[in-house]
Amino acid sequence: MNVNIPASNLPRVVVIGCGFGGLELVKKLRHAPVQVVLLDRNNYHNFQPLLYQVATGSLEPDTIVAPIRKMFKGQHNFIYRYAEVQYINAERNEVETNIGPIGYDFLVIATGSQTNFFGNKTIEKAAMQIKTIPSALNLRSYIFQNFEKALLMNTTYEKEELMNVVVVGGGPTGVEVSGAIAELKANVLPKDYPELDFRSMKIYLIEAGPVLLNGMSAESSAKARQYLEEMDVHVWLNAPVEKYEDGKVYFGKDQSIHAETLIWAAGVSGTALPGLQENAVAKNQRINVNQFNKVEGYENIFAIGDCALMVTEDTPRGHPMVAQVAIQQAKLLAKNLPRIINRETPENFVYNNKGSMATVGRNKAVVDLPKFKFQGFFAWLVWLFVHLMSLAGHRNRIVTFFTWVWNYITYDQSLRLIIRPYWREPRKKKGDAPIEPQGNETPQEKPLPISENVVLATEKPAELLPPAKDTSPPEAPKEQQNQRPFPPPPMA
Ligand SMILES: Cc1cc2nc3c(=O)[nH]c(=O)nc-3n(C[C@H](O)[C@H](O)[C@H](O)COP(=O)(O)OP(=O)(O)OC[C@H]3O[C@@H](n4cnc5c(N)ncnc54)[C@H](O)[C@@H]3O)c2cc1C
Repeated sequence: MNVNIPASNLPRVVVIGCGFGGLELVKKLRHAPVQVVLLDRNNYHNFQPLLYQVATGSLEPDTIVAPIRKMFKGQHNFIYRYAEVQYINAERNEVETNIGPIGYDFLVIATGSQTNFFGNKTIEKAAMQIKTIPSALNLRSYIFQNFEKALLMNTTYEKEELMNVVVVGGGPTGVEVSGAIAELKANVLPKDYPELDFRSMKIYLIEAGPVLLNGMSAESSAKARQYLEEMDVHVWLNAPVEKYEDGKVYFGKDQSIHAETLIWAAGVSGTALPGLQENAVAKNQRINVNQFNKVEGYENIFAIGDCALMVTEDTPRGHPMVAQVAIQQAKLLAKNLPRIINRETPENFVYNNKGSMATVGRNKAVVDLPKFKFQGFFAWLVWLFVHLMSLAGHRNRIVTFFTWVWNYITYDQSLRLIIRPYWREPRKKKGDAPIEPQGNETPQEKPLPISENVVLATEKPAELLPPAKDTSPPEAPKEQQNQRPFPPPPMA
């Protein structure tokens, strides 16, 4: 296979990842005297802050993604290849990808973060994530499949097990997804499933720390908790989750809840790629960079966004893993790269924290600005406006706006569809005989239960593939996962 990247007299900047950081960098290099080669294993940019709405049936995935080629149409110094980078060969100034090696003069790593299970294998096996479009769609299918299945059960216990939802992690994602599921329970599910008794359905939000939305103000944390409890979400604080076993989530001091749906929103780690020398990679798989995002030990490799760890006096544990950091680092690097090429002194990065926000549900949100804090209906309007304007493309904004208005007026999300059923290996229940292969048929080869159009938990789509080098126990500071600044400004 030949990657067919045209030769050029300009220095080649290879950017890995079209998340918030990579996207902004490529955009800002539009007029720079460089050849920009963007590599991403997805051919779209994903607006992660609204993934939870895809997972809970409020928005279609195509309203929160933007095709890479369309976004950069007409950018003359730009080349995109649909590729996954597997290894950095710094000695040869090349990245190795699934489509072949690609050389660079400058390399920018903007590969973001990955879900972090803190080494807990039982949780990793059982939990659903909200990190990518396929994972959000899996969760949507799984929730509604479980309700369909609950109808077929005979005992209250079995029904409850399928209807209960446990969300782990009291940061913005955990708060937002629990609120969204509580709204489904209040407004949608009882209408769709009149045969089920919704007094049996419980939603739990479990947080290891003492507050929700750690990193936001005390008022916002308390208000978010109050909102959730009013919406009938059971909030448990100071309750680290231990394991998932026999259909139960074990947490805190010997507590347990039986639930098929376990949503993990409790942590992320970096995505350092293999090939980087040891001192360039921190314990949590973030990449050590200096104050202008140059990777430790290299002259022509940079890292920005979630995957970069910039330790300064003000940020002893690095910057928060949020979109604004990625965007601001990208903007500065776009200015610094031409300076570096011309052997001028680059500028140091200083993070401008514009504030944080999270929504809990209809008319309920919390906003912390540097000078003001407010909660309630106005905060909710601000949250809606900021997220709407941050989406890529007019079409996405218009469709999202009308979808939200429709949902608001009708109390009825229409997207509770199981288009791509999610199948996972059945959990072995106590007393079950071991599953033995019969004849030549191994358990994995048995026909899939619903249709062939099924995503297997064991068969990961490209987007779900973990970066080649796996993590050691991470140290992402709690506040990094919980701060939720404004999403980025509108994209091209
Ligand atoms: C559910 C959720 C909600 C969030 N809400 C907010 C919010 O409200 N506000 C906020 O500020 N932040 C929020 N965040 C965090 C925010 O999304 C991240 O901080 C931001 O996306 C980081 O940008 P990035 O460019 O570093 O990486 P990302 O945006 O994660 O992009 C990484 C890109 O790299 C690509 N990639 C990765 N590895 C490879 C490889 N080996 N080869 C090729 N391509 C690769 C990926 O496909 C992806 O396109 C949220 C995150 C999640 C998961």
